[in-house]
Amino acid sequence: HIHTPQTLLNTLSAEDVSFLRLQFTDILGTTKNVEVPRSQFEKALRGDVTFDGSAVEGFTRVEESDMLLTPDLSTFLIYPPFSAGDGERGRVARLICDVTLPDGTPFEGDPRRVLQRQVERAAGLGFEMYVGTEPEFFLFERDASGRGVPITHDKAGYFDLAPIDKGERIRREIAHKLVGMGFEIEAAHHEVAPGQHEIDFRYAPALEAADRIATFKFVVKRVALEYGLLASFLPKPIAGVSGSGMHCHLSLFRNGENAFAQPEGEYGLSDTARYFIAGLLEHAEGMAAITNPLVNSYKRLVPGFEAPVNVAWSTTNRSALIRIPAKRGASTRAEVRMPDPSCNPYLALAAMLAAGLSGIEERLEPPPAIGRNIFRMTVREKRHHRIRELPTDLREAVSELEKDAVIARALGDHVLDHFVAAKRAEWAEYSATVHAWELERYLDLI
Ligand code: GLU
Ligand code: MG
Ligand code: MG
Repeated sequence: HIHTPQTLLNTLSAEDVSFLRLQFTDILGTTKNVEVPRSQFEKALRGDVTFDGSAVEGFTRVEESDMLLTPDLSTFLIYPPFSAGDGERGRVARLICDVTLPDGTPFEGDPRRVLQRQVERAAGLGFEMYVGTEPEFFLFERDASGRGVPITHDKAGYFDLAPIDKGERIRREIAHKLVGMGFEIEAAHHEVAPGQHEIDFRYAPALEAADRIATFKFVVKRVALEYGLLASFLPKPIAGVSGSGMHCHLSLFRNGENAFAQPEGEYGLSDTARYFIAGLLEHAEGMAAITNPLVNSYKRLVPGFEAPVNVAWSTTNRSALIRIPAKRGASTRAEVRMPDPSCNPYLALAAMLAAGLSGIEERLEPPPAIGRNIFRMTVREKRHHRIRELPTDLREAVSELEKDAVIARALGDHVLDHFVAAKRAEWAEYSATVHAWELERYLDLI
């Protein structure tokens, strides 16, 4: 549906929309929005709504703080009612916006702009990247005062059925709401850990995919609240069981055809696919801080839980960082298993696209694909296959990011500087904290 400001104004009134939310994302990935009433719709669609950029994480500029929201009309959707009484004062719609400066130039610190730049770079090489994501999340109980507690709402496991799986109704409700908002849901199921779920939606061009991840997380949290539960996208909320990943299935298309497919190529893959994979592997350490941005992210990236630890690719094995799913032809794609759902989706997709494109530009050859379970290899075998390891904590990941010129350039100075400063502060706070583990381990022993 292609809207102009005028057709959208007509739709807003025909659909009885009373409130319009103008949405954007800060550097750390938090979705922000400002709501305007009907009297301001024309102004909002003209891109004349201003906000104080200095109050948004990572948006601070020394020169000035006034920023404008320029709505992307293709992102228009009307929210379904989430609780009884919603819609009584008219319906609520939203538009995702680009952040611009008063003189009309795009703001360099806007994560959506960072992704658009890589999308444009891909287009310059004749490519469009499509992205399918598999976000996983946990459902937790809330205590009497409504605070979330780390007790999962069920004890079920992978693909279990109700009544052991207590998530069936709520997953269906989430899927139903998303379909009403234009999503095409491909599958919903209980995941491996107790209380863990996954809902997959159809792939889309990179920018739309990032917009959808942001929308998806909001809807999951909002519906869970309605059921008295807390939905959390924290990568490793419970030690000793699977964490939550957000696998990203990436493919490049050129002139409407999958540019990764090549029936005569090794594994049925084209040169483009091999170079792209090589680029992703080459920059895996450098982009980790972006795809896995929390202190907690690195507690998921440990052996034994289907999350990657080693920088390798495979056509079969789920222990590798990149897996090539069996489907070929138009479905040929690389599954990047590293990202987790706490990432800023715009920056994460920008980093992956930048890494892959640099592989294509430099015609990088990937190391041989690994056919075995890497978790069962000895250190010597790993060294023989020249398999590197991902950063083991956020501090190491931030240093790797600073050393990686390709990823740093993709982010741009503004985003890089603010991101690194925020992550350094996060690490400093974490490392100065005395954790329960230390007391349990040492207190009476030492
Ligand atoms: N939960 C796993 C992870 O942390 C992924 C499980 C799966 O293959 O879906 O990445
Ligand atoms: Mg999964
Ligand atoms: Mg997967």
